[in-house]
Amino acid sequence: MFTSYTNGHYHGVAKKNYFKRALGALSAGALPQKCVACGQESFGGVFCLTCKVLAGETDHFSVERNETLSRMTLRCELEFAAALGIFTKGGPYQSLLHKLKYRGVFTLGFKEGRRFGIKYMQMSTIPKADIIIPIPSHWRRKLKRGYNQAEIFAKGIERETKIPIRTDVLRTRLGIVSQTTKKREERMNRTYDRFLCVNPKGVAKKRVLLVDDVLTTGATAEAAITALNMKAIKKIQLGLLALAMN
Ligand SMILES: [Zn+2]
Repeated sequence: MFTSYTNGHYHGVAKKNYFKRALGALSAGALPQKCVACGQESFGGVFCLTCKVLAGETDHFSVERNETLSRMTLRCELEFAAALGIFTKGGPYQSLLHKLKYRGVFTLGFKEGRRFGIKYMQMSTIPKADIIIPIPSHWRRKLKRGYNQAEIFAKGIERETKIPIRTDVLRTRLGIVSQTTKKREERMNRTYDRFLCVNPKGVAKKRVLLVDDVLTTGATAEAAITALNMKAIKKIQLGLLALAMN
């Protein structure tokens, strides 16, 4: 497991970090020991120091009017929006999301969720949400993968914030249709009514932190918010693992 440690390349540093990593592994299951982007020693983190710098930390938790919020402004009204990192082509967050999506390395998403949760709790200006709702993934993709990566990210946030997750509120409309052609699927993906609020009682008068893995155009988030907004919801906040940049 600690291959670089046994290789003896990092004598002093490795000894120092051994306990830190062992503790981390205990608290979050099998953690990646290598940077998910470049494969170098990451000392228990998702990224190594180089990739951490490359990935860039956003200032979204301290700057209220940030890039994530402004991308959503024309689409809907949000109380707060933040992304942990920036998704660029070939960048560290692309590797991370790829591993999350296709390799089933769900501990990464959980770990990033915990990091989001810590930053979220440190904010003093934004009221905290009552519930966390991960944006549901397409039923067929979920079937193939076995899990929804937004939900894994949300679980990490829940661990740090103690705000409960609700997965019984939003459903994809496609999940109800059993026979869909690819064309129909593509058409449905573009529409505003992709999601249904199947449990209005679950959101009435509640402050909701809506969570997803990556935000591109904002159309998916808008569709989820539209479904929630039809109910007597209090306020909506948006939490993301990464914001995609062109
Ligand atoms: Zn790296």
